[in-house]
Amino acid sequence: MSHTQHRYIGAHEREWQVDLDAAARVAPWARRAPALLEGEVAAMAEHFPHWLLALGRDGAPALCGACGETVVFAAGAARCVACDTPAETSAGAQLMWVGHLPTLVRPEPALEARLPSLAGAGFPTFAAGAARYLLVMLTLAYPDEWPHEEPAVRYSPRFLDLIGVGAGPSGATHMLSGGRACLYAYAQYQGAGVAAVLQQRAVNHLASLIKIAGGTPPAEAFIGRIH
Ligand SMILES: [Zn+2]
Repeated sequence: MSHTQHRYIGAHEREWQVDLDAAARVAPWARRAPALLEGEVAAMAEHFPHWLLALGRDGAPALCGACGETVVFAAGAARCVACDTPAETSAGAQLMWVGHLPTLVRPEPALEARLPSLAGAGFPTFAAGAARYLLVMLTLAYPDEWPHEEPAVRYSPRFLDLIGVGAGPSGATHMLSGGRACLYAYAQYQGAGVAAVLQQRAVNHLASLIKIAGGTPPAEAFIGRIH
C-alpha cells in the first residue's frame, strides 16, 4: 500500500509517496520489521494526516544542506521536501515525525499576552467556531530500539521560552532535558504506536503546558493528566 504525504512550500504544494525502504535504512527497528513501519505510517495518515515522516539527527529534524528545509523519504532516498537534494544519512540519523498539534486557547490574560510573540515565532492561532486554538510544532523521534523504548516527543526551545516554561529537566512541568516531554512513568510505556502516543499523551501534556502559560501553577495544571 502506498502512502502520500504533502506539504506547502509557500503557495506551491509538493506531494510524494513515502518511500518506506529509504526510511527503514535509517532505523534498525524498521529494517528488522518493515510491517511495523508501514503500520505506523498508515496510522499517522489516518489520525495525523499533515504530519511528515522525516529524517532526524541527534533528536532534531535534519535540514537540507542546500535550502534548510525538512528532509523526507521519497523516490529512493532521504531528500529535501523543497528542492529534492538527497541528504546524508550517516551518523546520528534517525526516523522522526514532524507536525503540529492544535491546543485550545482559554481566555486567560497571561496567555493572551503571550500570543503575539508566539505568532511572530511561527506559532499562530486560528479560530474554529467559537473556540480558538494555538498551533504548536512538535517532533517525535523513534529510538533505535523502538518499540522497546519510548519515542521522544520534543517541543522547540523557542516555544517553551515563549510560554514561560523552561526547557527542563523539571518534575513540576513534566519536562526531561532538551525540550523533551516526560510522557510516561518509568517502565510504563508498552510500545504504543506514535499516533496513540500523540493522542493519549502529547495532547494532554501540551494542554497542561498551556495552562501553565495562562497562570495555572504547574502542580494543578498536571492534575489528573498523564502519569
Ligand atoms: Zn532543499
